[in-house]
Amino acid sequence: DDSWLHLPNRWGIPVDVCAGADVPIESSAIDEILTVLATADTLERLGAVTGHTEAAISRVVLTPDLHKGAGIPIGTVLQTRGALLPQAVGNDINCGMRLETTSLTADQVRPRLDALERRLRHLFFEGGRRIALSGLQREALLRDGLPGLLGTGRPERADGVWSALRPGDARPGRIHGSQYPTTNADAFRDWIHSAGGTSFDSIIGSVGGGNHFAELQYVSAIHDRQAAHGWGFSLGQVVLMVHSGSLSLGHQANASGLDQARAAWPAGVPLPDNRIIPMMTDGRSAPARRRYLDAFGNAANFAVGNRFFLSLMLRAGLAAECGELAADLVYDAPHNLLWQHDDGQVVHRKGATPAGGYAETAGGPYAMWGEPVIVPGSMGAASYVLRGHGNPRTLASACHGAGRRVRRGAAAQAGEAELDAFLRDFRVVTPLDHRDPAVNRRSDVMAAWRRDLKQEAPWVYKDIGPVVSSLRRAGVAEPVVELRPLLTVKG
Ligand code: 5GP
Ligand code: MN
Ligand code: MN
Repeated sequence: DDSWLHLPNRWGIPVDVCAGADVPIESSAIDEILTVLATADTLERLGAVTGHTEAAISRVVLTPDLHKGAGIPIGTVLQTRGALLPQAVGNDINCGMRLETTSLTADQVRPRLDALERRLRHLFFEGGRRIALSGLQREALLRDGLPGLLGTGRPERADGVWSALRPGDARPGRIHGSQYPTTNADAFRDWIHSAGGTSFDSIIGSVGGGNHFAELQYVSAIHDRQAAHGWGFSLGQVVLMVHSGSLSLGHQANASGLDQARAAWPAGVPLPDNRIIPMMTDGRSAPARRRYLDAFGNAANFAVGNRFFLSLMLRAGLAAECGELAADLVYDAPHNLLWQHDDGQVVHRKGATPAGGYAETAGGPYAMWGEPVIVPGSMGAASYVLRGHGNPRTLASACHGAGRRVRRGAAAQAGEAELDAFLRDFRVVTPLDHRDPAVNRRSDVMAAWRRDLKQEAPWVYKDIGPVVSSLRRAGVAEPVVELRPLLTVKG
């Protein structure tokens, strides 16, 4: 079938690329993954020295949005046994997409978009938000995720966030949620209680820069009526999509984890040329691994909490301008995370989202249709929600977006006319109000703003249509609804 490409390699590791011929894949990203495979040699050397000989890379899957990343390409699913690869998760631990349906329709919201834009700018960027958590609540969020923060009587479904299966004790046959179990929040204890410019209070509710966003969209087409109905979608309905990660916490957890792994590196084994530092899962390294996974989980839980607050901010803006509304979580989908399975396999997803099917979701709220797969396009294109099929060939994974086509930096060069056309047709809310005449007169400020925005323009991303049809043709996931943007908050 034309949606698969198998990459032969000298280690004999199964490497499958899931992308139709109509989806452009950067050849440098393919070269990059071949470099990553050399970690098989590192694991063999570590195994020989530590006696932990089962450590190996067992399978690699590359998704249609594959593009070059730092060390390991974005859009990589990498399964190991006997070892963890912190770098195969990405620095922004538990970056993900949260999606909520609302009781509003696009027709109700469109006439209020000017007012909504002002209100959201105030809420997101001008000190309008007020998220007052106590030290205990912050600690509970980092340690136990949203169920810890909300103290819900239904621990398995805090605010609808599915968390019955925690990635730390993932079992095949169960759904993978985005909460992460930890034993403590020690790695961030001082920070939790600190004040000032980088404190918990000052960053919670931030979108984060670049490709992160909080977006109001509406359902523009329904492709699977039964699943759409089951998940609460209707034509013309307004939905909220939030893309953000763990802000600075993920970077911090990963940096200190890698320092520990380097410090524990066995004498006699050279540090690998590809700079990918594995963490073995043998007994000897258990204390260091526990410390790493606790900090990792703290960051992951913070990310889920931050997405929750960002969606509350969107809800608050809508309620103030368009009247009271109800909102329901469809899914909070993680795309930078690792899952340790009972059989010893570890699945790392770096810029890839779980796409479990019936077997993976059995017994949970998604058993009927499979796991919701959220695939955003861009701030000027459609986004999709699909239902997963749990395809073993992709390790039950799908792409987490259309994927970048033009490198950051390269995008700033051209496209002034295209940007003007985009700004006429779409609505972006940024810290700077580009329609304010006082701002508009400052040509230096406007030029910098336009340069930044061009890095995220629709044309720097791949065409979402072929990306989604690759998933469908490959038997990975089936489109349920198509969404179009009404307003995008870019931070
Ligand atoms: P990531 O940054 O996690 O690698 O990429 C997420 C995906 O989100 C990108 O590949 C792109 O397709 C999509 N995307 C980026 N910016 C926006 C936006 O503002 N709105 C929407 N709907 N999608 C976006
Ligand atoms: Mn992301
Ligand atoms: Mn991110």
